Amino acid sequence: MKKCILFFVFISLIFFDHAFLCAQNIKSAGGPTLVIHGGAGTILRENMTPEDEKAYHEKLKEALNAGYKILNSGGAAEEAVVAAIMIMEDSPLFNAGKGAVFTNEGTNEMDASIMNGGDGSAGAVAGVKTIKNPILAAQAVKSNSEHVMMAGKGAEQFAADRNIERVDASYFYTERRKKQLDKLKEAEKANEEGNIKPWKDYKYGTVGAVALDKNGNICAATSTGGMTNKKYGRIGDSPVIGAGTFANKTCGVSATGHGEYFIRNVVAYDIAAMMEYKKISLGAATEKIVMEKLLQIGGSGGIVALDANGNISMTFNTPGMYRGYIQKEGRPRTFIYKIEG
Ligand code: ASP
Repeated sequence: MKKCILFFVFISLIFFDHAFLCAQNIKSAGGPTLVIHGGAGTILRENMTPEDEKAYHEKLKEALNAGYKILNSGGAAEEAVVAAIMIMEDSPLFNAGKGAVFTNEGTNEMDASIMNGGDGSAGAVAGVKTIKNPILAAQAVKSNSEHVMMAGKGAEQFAADRNIERVDASYFYTERRKKQLDKLKEAEKANEEGNIKPWKDYKYGTVGAVALDKNGNICAATSTGGMTNKKYGRIGDSPVIGAGTFANKTCGVSATGHGEYFIRNVVAYDIAAMMEYKKISLGAATEKIVMEKLLQIGGSGGIVALDANGNISMTFNTPGMYRGYIQKEGRPRTFIYKIEG
């Protein structure tokens, strides 16, 4: 009997896990391509109103259209990913820029990075509090400095010196994110007192974009507010080149999820390395990393990626991931759940 129950639990666990796996691989249509995400996580249909869904689809489409306009007129992949990310950073819907989550201290501290696969250049900022569009600062670090990553006050000074727009920290205050912090802190306190299990915010609303331009260059970028209730200057994977963002001549990857797992497993680079060294396809590499390697160690999240031919992968091990892509014909397609309907 005991064996039977254990077997049942085992089977349910496998089924439960796999119910949340999604590998959406789209074949190349040739020409410029852009794929974006607005975060993975516990995004459940029952918690979303039709208005919420509409708002997310519309914002994702706006970001895709902005990037496509640049790519279609011969612009660089780098410009396209920055344009797409800025639209999502300016929206309170996503955990980046305006909609950044709160730290334990009640502040908003953002991270962003960008890597150009054409020349291998990269830039990142971490823990910035007053830069309206952190992706612009990351791009400036990449293009106008000899460094790859700048943090905190230094990064803010660097941005100010380059006339990158800064705002009062209060610009990042949103009621919705404040409530998430309060709820998480309450649960944490109750848990410390031994009362209930902590409520965890498993919605990773980070934004990311990967583009392939007409010259065949790939660029990947990611921007985030990190994780709600983060402490002591915690930095996630998003500004870490190789973990949350990576691009070379083979592929480009932007990740979202529980950052610590993505850093320890160097997720974005691992996907590129698997393709390069094992000569496997983008789809096979992303499935291996997100749906096997990460899943086995409890690393929840997902990635968007594309290869040098324009094949796309949107793969995640959570119930949902805000995501979308646009190919040569210019029609944006957006998704939220594993199965749309
Ligand atoms: N990966 C981000 C972090 O850990 C969170 C997210 O994807 O929303 O900071």
